[in-house]
Amino acid sequence: MGEQVRVAVIGAGITGLTCARALADAGHAVTVFDKGRGIGGRLATRRTDDLRFDHGAQVLPATDPDFAALLQGMVRDGHAAPWDGGIVGTPGMVQIPRALAQGLDVRSGVMVTALDPDPAGWHLRGEGIDHRADIVVLAIPAPQARDLLGAGHAFAAPLAQVRYQASVTVMAGLDPAAPRPFVTHRGTGALAWVAQDGAKPGRDGQPLTTWVVQADPDFSMAHIDLPFAELVDLIAPQLLALLGARPDQLHHAVAHRWLYALTDVALGRPFLADDATGLIVGGDWALGPHAEHGWASGRAMAAHLLART
Ligand SMILES: Cc1cc2nc3c(=O)[nH]c(=O)nc-3n(C[C@H](O)[C@H](O)[C@H](O)COP(=O)(O)OP(=O)(O)OC[C@H]3O[C@@H](n4cnc5c(N)ncnc54)[C@H](O)[C@@H]3O)c2cc1C
Repeated sequence: MGEQVRVAVIGAGITGLTCARALADAGHAVTVFDKGRGIGGRLATRRTDDLRFDHGAQVLPATDPDFAALLQGMVRDGHAAPWDGGIVGTPGMVQIPRALAQGLDVRSGVMVTALDPDPAGWHLRGEGIDHRADIVVLAIPAPQARDLLGAGHAFAAPLAQVRYQASVTVMAGLDPAAPRPFVTHRGTGALAWVAQDGAKPGRDGQPLTTWVVQADPDFSMAHIDLPFAELVDLIAPQLLALLGARPDQLHHAVAHRWLYALTDVALGRPFLADDATGLIVGGDWALGPHAEHGWASGRAMAAHLLART
């Protein structure tokens, strides 16, 4: 990529933003599209009334020194803080992708529904999108990438090897006087991970004590199709029992389902690339279950594209 090229990045999670950032910093014309109302994908913070919950990723471990350095830079700049042995965004997890996206052309609330080769590269379409690019970076979960590319695409088979674990998540707000016997708890079933979300740094000033509960993969898959209200009815009493709190102390409880939460079987290499057509596909699923793996995939995709001249 010697001259400036037009790059369309689909997916504004940590993978897409990492790749977009490196390409934009190298002088390319990068546009990022995301179907979500905001950016960040699974590095997410849900706001309801005066409450905030990190309902996706909980705390980011960093094993790669470069990822650790990136996160430490965010800590220095006030976008993140250490917590529970890793790093969390402040005042919410979404601050990490927001910091990465600063200065990038990111269009959110737009879903790319068709991706067609055209003589000059690629034609992206969707509601409100009619966009042409020389290169497409697809940074979305593997099953969604497979749907967009079509079952006949050469990447369909490797993408189909990737496996995910689902996660059923409940966000609860309790009376501040209710017991708070721990900050984090690791268990099984519905209560595989229970975190006092409001105890993370930068979450002060909320009227209720906020908790995030994430079920284990077996419980999540067994209950993934239940309506949200039934998920709350199932999980909230277990949370109250674990905390030793009374039902009348529960003032807020909503559920969320993540069908593609954590990579179970990864691709085993950082991306799939077709240099002839200018298509590259990656995500956390390429390398593993954590945000760090998405970052590594995004960085590797950018390096691959920048090495092409
Ligand atoms: C419940 C849960 C708990 C987790 N816990 C942790 C943890 O504690 N620590 C950790 O490190 N990681 C954790 N993770 C994993 C972590 O969140 C992911 O590894 C990381 O966020 C993946 O980033 P990504 O950019 O690859 O994908 P995503 O964040 O999924 O981003 C993909 C983006 O693509 C967009 N998109 C998809 N299709 C289209 C389309 N057709 N058009 C436009 N946009 C599209 C989506 O809206 C999304 O924003 C957790 C995840 C979940 C769900």
